[in-house]
Amino acid sequence: MGKGFFNVPVAKNEPVLSYAPGTQERENVLQAYKSMYNSKIEVPLYINGKHIKSGETQTMSPPHDHQHIVGTYHTANKTHVEQAISTALDARKTWANLPWEQRAAIFLRAAELIAGPYRAKINAATMMAQSKTVHQAEIDAACEFIDFLRFNVQFMTEIYADQPKSTSAAWNRIEYRPLEGFTYAVTPFNFTAIAGNLPACMALMGNVVVWKPSDSQVYSAKIIMDVFNEAGVPPGVINVVFGDPVMITNTVLSSPDFSGLHFTGSTFVFKELWKQIGTHIHNYKTYPRIVGETGGKDFIVAHQSANPKQVATGIVRGAFEFQGQKCSAASRAYIPESLWADVKSYLLEDIDSIKIGSPEDLSNFMTAVIHEGSFDKIAKYIDAAKNNADAEIIAGGSYDKTKGYFIEPTVILTTNPQYETMCTELFGPVITIYIYKDEDYAKTLQLVDKTSDYALTGAIFSTDRYAANQATEALVNAAGNFYINDKPTGAVVGQQPFGGARASGTNDKAGSAQNLWRWVSPRMIKETFVSPTDYKYPFLG
Ligand code: NAD
Repeated sequence: MGKGFFNVPVAKNEPVLSYAPGTQERENVLQAYKSMYNSKIEVPLYINGKHIKSGETQTMSPPHDHQHIVGTYHTANKTHVEQAISTALDARKTWANLPWEQRAAIFLRAAELIAGPYRAKINAATMMAQSKTVHQAEIDAACEFIDFLRFNVQFMTEIYADQPKSTSAAWNRIEYRPLEGFTYAVTPFNFTAIAGNLPACMALMGNVVVWKPSDSQVYSAKIIMDVFNEAGVPPGVINVVFGDPVMITNTVLSSPDFSGLHFTGSTFVFKELWKQIGTHIHNYKTYPRIVGETGGKDFIVAHQSANPKQVATGIVRGAFEFQGQKCSAASRAYIPESLWADVKSYLLEDIDSIKIGSPEDLSNFMTAVIHEGSFDKIAKYIDAAKNNADAEIIAGGSYDKTKGYFIEPTVILTTNPQYETMCTELFGPVITIYIYKDEDYAKTLQLVDKTSDYALTGAIFSTDRYAANQATEALVNAAGNFYINDKPTGAVVGQQPFGGARASGTNDKAGSAQNLWRWVSPRMIKETFVSPTDYKYPFLG
């Protein structure tokens, strides 16, 4: 920027539309859904701004209707991945030098396109591809994605404004350079907003990107690329390769120019990628930045002073919205004996009223889980609970994959706080509850802290301020996002920066400036106005 200190629009969270009967947005999204459902698309690879058709294709089907094909996508071979890398490196020459306000304008435009002309499309695609209800699609694909794009522009200017002190003799300046080389975004199926944000925020900071979306999110990834294209992201800045994750990743991580990994997905995969980066470390031209947000075993703890209706609502929304497939979904709960009868009765009443089916029927609160692998895994845990003396299924427990991968909201009650489903991430609509004696509150907090490897989200429900404080302190390392009297899901960009520690990730807080700091490499420039001409200091006499 040479000719002005430009202010960016003040970022505000995008209002969540209601989709109530009779609203225009409801009509628009259903129309978009129907038209997508009744046609077939072909999704190419995106390399250097070109649509590449490899000829090797996979089909796409909605998880709630797995025999219905809505299109195909082309998969990459090694040469495509190498092309994506070399084209990104070429694009870097101009993109990294483009003034920041030009990059900002592209992503602000992308936000506005999603808020307006693309809103129904990106929501409908997310409903269809990832089986989200319209509300879950709206808070993800529309609102959270728009918020990421707008807030990141503001965060970028705050970072750029962070400058060192100077004196009259020397002016100190910091330039926030993009990373040298290219970056790699690997994204999960469960959030369209995360899929779009991971490559976009690195590109916003001047980096060039190879992006590998999840096989289960290709349909909405295509809409993201349509938006980026219309917003004016230049050719080669964000390149998309679909297909074999192992081959794609091996090719990317073998390049000496690889300079950063922005990953969201499961813990095991992230650790494998980290290990692989370690084995290549002598080949890289720079130390790669590694950011990964991974799994969780998120908890709700109720104190005896809690309001049982609020606890039950926190469990239902926290555990079952989007079929429990949020990294932040509540999947273990600790309820005091004295509160259990009330919590249980509200919980069972709520679960009884939950409707499951296609997201096209807007009266459904839940739809299908993402794919057969996930369905089979969750069903296996449910069956195991049916046959284990430590466990009792008190709600749900049925599943059916005839048409879609539907699993009932399931509550397992256990007498063993170390029971498998208290510790392992299932990523489905299953919560396990342990009842503790009221007087064991302090011990229970220790149990919560020690039970799982993860530390992503957690919640305490309490009307007793001392008890709330006790939990806040005892669970200081048990969650990166900690909630008091609220469900542990639903972080909002700019309000609750998101990320966890321990096995849950590097905690680089998506939705804050902290994440963007990882994608720049500062250059310090000191300029001395009158340079010395004698090497001798006064003390030398
Ligand atoms: P996943 O780990 O199966 O896949 C994530 C990405 O990694 C996909 O693009 C996938 O193709 C790729 N991948 C899979 N195996 C790979 C391999 N061997 N080498 C290279 N890449 C590979 O995760 P998912 O099922 O898409 O998403 C669910 C997981 O993501 C859950 O564990 C959830 O907790 C986590 N998640 C975390 C956050 C967070 O912010 N902490 C947010 C969303 C999801």
